[in-house]
Amino acid sequence: MDEQSFMPTYGRFPVALVSGKGATAQDTEGKTYIDFTSGIGVNCLGYCHEGWVDAVCKQASTLQHISNLYYNPASENLAHTLCQAAGYSKVFLCNSGAEANECAIKLARKYGTDTYGEGHDQIITLCNSFHGRTVTTLAATGQDVFHTYFTPFTEGFAYAEPNMESVRSQVTERTCAVMVEFVQGEGGVLPLEEEFVRELGEFCREKGILLMADEVQTGVGRTGTLYCWEQYGVKPDVLTSAKGLGGGLPIGACLCSEELAGVLGKSMHGSTFGGNPVVCAGAQYVLDTVNRPEFLEQVKKTGKLFWEQLEQIPEISQVRGKGLMLGAVLTKGTAAQVATACAEKGLLVLTAKSVLRFLPPLNITPEEIQAGMKILKEVLAAL
Ligand SMILES: *Cc1c(COP(=O)(O)O)cnc(C)c1O
Repeated sequence: MDEQSFMPTYGRFPVALVSGKGATAQDTEGKTYIDFTSGIGVNCLGYCHEGWVDAVCKQASTLQHISNLYYNPASENLAHTLCQAAGYSKVFLCNSGAEANECAIKLARKYGTDTYGEGHDQIITLCNSFHGRTVTTLAATGQDVFHTYFTPFTEGFAYAEPNMESVRSQVTERTCAVMVEFVQGEGGVLPLEEEFVRELGEFCREKGILLMADEVQTGVGRTGTLYCWEQYGVKPDVLTSAKGLGGGLPIGACLCSEELAGVLGKSMHGSTFGGNPVVCAGAQYVLDTVNRPEFLEQVKKTGKLFWEQLEQIPEISQVRGKGLMLGAVLTKGTAAQVATACAEKGLLVLTAKSVLRFLPPLNITPEEIQAGMKILKEVLAAL
């Protein structure tokens, strides 16, 4: 039935999930799976976390949607909490990571024009990055494979390797911003070097170029701090967040510093669903839960445990990433092959390029980790 009706854009595993609790899901036949993917970093509190379900249901049965023509407490509360928690002045709410990045790109171009005049609209992104699937965010994505089929792409992007020499060589008079992922997710779970990020921060400040962070995957506690920049000590001027933010409902956010608060003015941007009260109630619950020192400390601890377990597996030659955003380099077999075999045995894992990728729920239990690791070990040993 799936194939009958859907455009064939996805390669799916032969798994049909119908229910879940925590990091465990059931398929149509009642078979259970340990989930090390959380819907690609989305279900940060796992499946059907009680408090989150209550918050969402309560809002759904009170007021589900009103449009941005009117005020609503649920979205105002979330905007306030998000700005406070992340340390930013203003936020624009939308529905996905790509949209959050679109907002950042519009903001950067407007900033460039306001500050330096027409034509200061170039944005540098990094090679191997991933920023989304809209025509503009595909153009922003620094991988050639994403620059096919849909020409003409949006102009104004240049791609630099993650080192200062390369960034400097790409900067022109027209550059208005640099956009980075602190840990490249889809690119293969590759953290940027601290030295590079520090120098990049200084460079952008000196040049009056915006530093923008795509924290769509690294944000909301995923790497052990609310946002990943905190671990680098370099605060971006613009930050985008999505994936885990809604705990399983579609939301994106573009946050900016005080200096940029007025760059996008009336009628310059908008979204029908952005700030939807039900989605905001879910995100509010997520932030109230995740943005506590004890919770984030626990993510770090669980991440360490996860890392150590992976390191002990003989068929894994390298573990990389931060917190609960981890990648494993395999000594044999392909990541796709291993992911398929794991699914058959009741473990869901992700791949990113040639590495196995893990984005489990942030509150995954040691027991669930053990159960998943047992399957992973068996699969890898049987290769
Ligand atoms: C997933 C992802 C996106 C795209 O998010 P969507 O919600 O699918 O539009 C953008 N940037 C990064 C870093 C991502 O991981």
